[in-house]
Amino acid sequence: MDGAGAGLRATVCSANPHKLAEFEALFPDWELELLANADFPEEDGLTYLDNARIKARYGRLVGPRDRWMLADDSGIEVAALGEGPGVQTARWAEGRHVEKLLAALDGEADRRAQYVCELVALSPEHEERRGSGVLPGTIAIAPAGSEGFGFDPVFVPRGRDRTVAELGDAWKGEHSHRAIAARSLRDTLR
Ligand code: IMP
Repeated sequence: MDGAGAGLRATVCSANPHKLAEFEALFPDWELELLANADFPEEDGLTYLDNARIKARYGRLVGPRDRWMLADDSGIEVAALGEGPGVQTARWAEGRHVEKLLAALDGEADRRAQYVCELVALSPEHEERRGSGVLPGTIAIAPAGSEGFGFDPVFVPRGRDRTVAELGDAWKGEHSHRAIAARSLRDTLR
């Protein structure tokens, strides 16, 4: 990790505590906290970037004025599902990520998929910085592993023979769509 944006104080605009943990690993030199008492507006944007902005701008409105606001929006794009559910992923999964995805791909030979992440950071002066990341892979036939969250027990990154949940949080911190997006965001802070 280089010194770009070192020491930055940021509020993570998410209701998902797993994301705070991942961001803490991705930005070990930043001082992070989760947005308190958040009642996020509906994520009705047409793109991941729109939805990341909705969360970051909401944080900018209600959160501490002297901190950066950090938000991401992510999803999975599955070839056999017409590259969906994409930006609709959270709604589509209804909290039953693995079960729904395995059922949707039952008997399907084409198991290609990718994770996508768009990251938005808003400075106290409302200056916007962005980062994006994609992790290609395939969907396993059965779940394996216990780390990560969401689809991680069935997502096998390209070039690996284990799921993200088996590869673990340390692997995610280096290679995930969110890690790639975090590096590209960091590049904009040089
Ligand atoms: P959001 O970015 O929090 O709106 O997430 C969109 C959807 O993608 C949610 O259903 C998440 O569980 C899922 N998702 C996002 N990132 C990951 C990940 O790193 N692993 C597995 N599922 C993810």
